[in-house]
Amino acid sequence: MRRPRKSDDFKEYSYVKKFSDSEIRLNSINGNRGVALIFPNNYTVAASSLSWSWVQQLFWEYNIPVERYFYEKWFKKFYSIESFTPLDENKVFLFSFHFEPDIENIVDILKKQGIPILKNQRNENHPTIIIGGAITFFNLELVKPIADVIVIGDLEDKVEQISEGINILLKDKESGLKFLDKIDNVIVNEQKNYTLSNFDISKKLPASHIITRFSEFGEKRLIEIGRGCIRRCKFCVMGNTKKPVKFVKPELIKDLLKDEKYPIGIISATITDYPWLDELLDILEYYEIKFSVSSMRADGITKRLLRLLKESGQNTYTIAPEGISQKIRDVMLKDLNEEELLTALEMGRMEDFSNVKLYYIVGFDEEDNEDFNELKSFIDKVKKLGYKSITLSINPLIPKKNTPFYGRKFINERRYNEIRKWMYENLKGVKLHFESYKLSKKQNLYNNISLEELINLFSK
Ligand code: SF4
Repeated sequence: MRRPRKSDDFKEYSYVKKFSDSEIRLNSINGNRGVALIFPNNYTVAASSLSWSWVQQLFWEYNIPVERYFYEKWFKKFYSIESFTPLDENKVFLFSFHFEPDIENIVDILKKQGIPILKNQRNENHPTIIIGGAITFFNLELVKPIADVIVIGDLEDKVEQISEGINILLKDKESGLKFLDKIDNVIVNEQKNYTLSNFDISKKLPASHIITRFSEFGEKRLIEIGRGCIRRCKFCVMGNTKKPVKFVKPELIKDLLKDEKYPIGIISATITDYPWLDELLDILEYYEIKFSVSSMRADGITKRLLRLLKESGQNTYTIAPEGISQKIRDVMLKDLNEEELLTALEMGRMEDFSNVKLYYIVGFDEEDNEDFNELKSFIDKVKKLGYKSITLSINPLIPKKNTPFYGRKFINERRYNEIRKWMYENLKGVKLHFESYKLSKKQNLYNNISLEELINLFSK
C-alpha cells in the first residue's frame, strides 16, 4: 500500500507501522483477500492474546490470508498490520472478542466504517460481521444483535469448514451465510442449539508466530499447554465453562521447543495444575529456555518452578488468594487455606523474590469486619517474611453469566470506596491497586443487559 498523503491518515499509518515494525514474524502468507481479523482493543492487549496470532495461523492453513487489525479510539481508517490495507477494503470482518466493554469498540469501528450496527439493518453490500472468542462461552446475548455469524467456542475443529464458508462469502454473501449456518456451533440463524467443549490442543498445539516488545509478556513466544481449568472457583468463567480440560503432553511440547530461539510465555489456566509439571521443567531447563507463566496456584508451587522463573528474569512473585478471609475463600470455592498461602510465600522468599503481588476480589454479601481484620493479620504475616514490596490488586466481584455467582449483586460505588478507605488506613506499607469502578461497572452492565436494552442502545 502507498503511504497516505493526508496528515491524519499518515499519523494513523505511522502508528500502526511502529507496531508492525516491532514484530518478529515466524511465518507469513502473502496476499490480502479481503478478510480482516480485528482485535477490538489496543495493540498491547491484542499482542498479549495468543488468539490474535493463532486464529490468523489457523486461517492461513486453509489459504485464507487474513490480516490483523487493532483498535484505537482516534483511528479512522484502521490499517492492517501486514500490508497497511485500510479496513474498508475488506469484505469479511472477523472479530476476536474476549472482554465485554470492548463491545463499545466494535460498535465504534462499525460506525466509522459506515456499517449499520444491527445485523438486520445490513444488506448484501455490507461486509459480513463474524464474531468469535471467549465472550461466546458466557455472553452470547451481547453479540447476537450485531454478528451476522457467531463462532461459538473453539475454532480449531471447524476452521476448515468456516474457511470454505468465507471463500463462498467473498463471492456471494447470501450463499456464504447459508453454508456457514450448516456448521455445528456456528450461529447464523439465532434459533440454533450449540454445545461448549474444549478442543483437544494436543492435536494442534497453539503457539504464537509473532514476537514483539509491546506485548504484556515482553518479547516472548506464547504457547498454550492447557485449555480449561480443573478447578471450580465460583466467580470464574473458565472454571465453569471450559470442561473437560485438555493438556498437551510434554513430548509434544519438547518437539516444539527443541529448536526454540526465543523466551516463551506459557499459557494455561494455572501452570501448577499441569499434570506433568516436572517433565515440562526438565525440557525448559535442558534446552535453557527462559519462560514466564500466566498464572500459578499457591497450593501447587514448587521451589524448582520458582527458581527457574527467577532465573528467567521474573522479579515479581504473583499469587491470587482472591478471598480476603478463609470464609470468603470458602464461599468462592477457592480451595486454598492460609497455611498454603503462607507456605507458598515463604518459598518465594527462599528463592529470593523480593516483590510480591496478591490478587483479591471484594464485594461479597458475606463480607464483614472480621474478614477485613483477617486480611490485615494475613498481610502482617506476609510483611514478616521480608518482602521489600507487597502489592495488592483489588477487583470488585463481577457476577458473570455461566458462573454460580450470576445473579448476585454488584457492589455499589459507596461500598467500594469504603473498602478502599479502610485498606488505605489499615494496610500500611503495602501498595494498593484498585480496579477502576467505572470499568468494572461497565463490565457488569454488559454482563446483565437484556437483548432488548442492547438493541435500543445500539439503535441510538
Ligand atoms: S483456579 Fe483460576 S482459572 Fe481455575 S477456576 Fe479458579 S480462578 Fe478460574
